[in-house]
Amino acid sequence: MEMIVCIKQVPGTNKVEVDPVTGVLKRDGIDSKMNPYDLFALETALKIKEEKGGSVKVLSMGPPQSKEVIREAYMMGADEGMLLSDRKFAGADVLATSYTISQGVRKYGKYDLIICGKQTTDGDTAQVGPEMAEYLDIPHIANVTDIVEIKEKSIVIKMDMSNSMQVVEVKYPCLITVEKDIFEPRLPSYRRKLETENKEIEVIGLKDFEDKDEKKYGLNGSPTQVERIFPPSHDKKQEVWEGNSEDISNKMTDKLKELKFV
Ligand SMILES: Cc1cc2nc3c(=O)[nH]c(=O)nc-3n(C[C@H](O)[C@H](O)[C@H](O)COP(=O)(O)OP(=O)(O)OC[C@H]3O[C@@H](n4cnc5c(N)ncnc54)[C@H](O)[C@@H]3O)c2cc1C
Repeated sequence: MEMIVCIKQVPGTNKVEVDPVTGVLKRDGIDSKMNPYDLFALETALKIKEEKGGSVKVLSMGPPQSKEVIREAYMMGADEGMLLSDRKFAGADVLATSYTISQGVRKYGKYDLIICGKQTTDGDTAQVGPEMAEYLDIPHIANVTDIVEIKEKSIVIKMDMSNSMQVVEVKYPCLITVEKDIFEPRLPSYRRKLETENKEIEVIGLKDFEDKDEKKYGLNGSPTQVERIFPPSHDKKQEVWEGNSEDISNKMTDKLKELKFV
C-alpha cells in the first residue's frame, strides 16, 4: 500500500500576530509544531503499513522551517518526505493550498491512499483534504473514525456523520481525513532520530510542478481576501441583582417585559 500523509506545521502558541496590511499571519520567529490532528493521520498510515506493508510518504507545504515536521514524521516512522516551498505559494487561501498540495501529490507519482488530518489548529477549515481530492479527481471520505478492513483494491472505513455512523467501502486511489483519537499517535523514537538525522527531504517549488501557472498559487490564486481579523468583542452587559427570591423574580419579570420577551 503506497500512502501519502499531509502534515502541516502550525504555530505552537495562540499569540500569533497578523500583518495589518495583507491579513497574512506573521509566522516568522514563532514556536511551531506539527498540527496535532496530523499526528493521527500519520499514525493511521503507520498502522496500515505495519499490517499490510508498503510505504508512508509525508508531504508538507510551508516555509523552509516546515522541514522540522517532516523530521518529526521520520522519527515516528515515515519513509520519505517532501516539502512544497516557494515564495510564490505564500498567502494561499484554502483553494490555492489544496491546489498546490494536489500538484505535490502528482509529483510523488503513484499512490493508493492519501490521509489528511481532520483539520488544522490554525486555519481550521477542514476543507483542504476534500478539495485536494476534487483536484485529483479521486473519491474522498471525511471524518473517518476507524479502519474496518484493508482489502487489495479498496478500504472499508467507518465515518462519523455527526448523528449516525456510516461504514463505507471506497476503491483506491482515494483520500480520507481522519478524526482525532482514531489511533493513539506513537512518540518519536530516539533510535529513529539517530537513523534519520541525515535523511534527505526533497524540497520542490513551482518550477517543478506540472502546472506552472503562477495565477493558481499563493495570493494570486486565492479568491478569498481577508478584509480584517479581530478578536471577538464581548459587548454583553451584565447586571447583578440582590434581594430575596421574590424581589429577584419580580425584577426578572419586569426585565423580560422590558425586553419584550413576554
Ligand atoms: C478565508 C481565509 C483566508 C486565509 N488567508 C490567509 C492568509 O492570508 N495568509 C495565511 O497565512 N493563511 C491564510 N489562511 C489560512 C490558510 O489558507 C490555511 O492555513 C490553509 O489554506 C490550510 O487550510 P487549513 O489550515 O484550514 O487546513 P484544514 O483544511 O483545516 O486542514 C485539513 C488537513 O489538510 C492537510 N493540510 C492543510 N494544510 C496543509 C499544508 N500546508 N501542508 C500539508 N498538509 C496540509 C492536513 O492534513 C490537515 O490536517 C486563510 C484561510 C481562510 C479560510
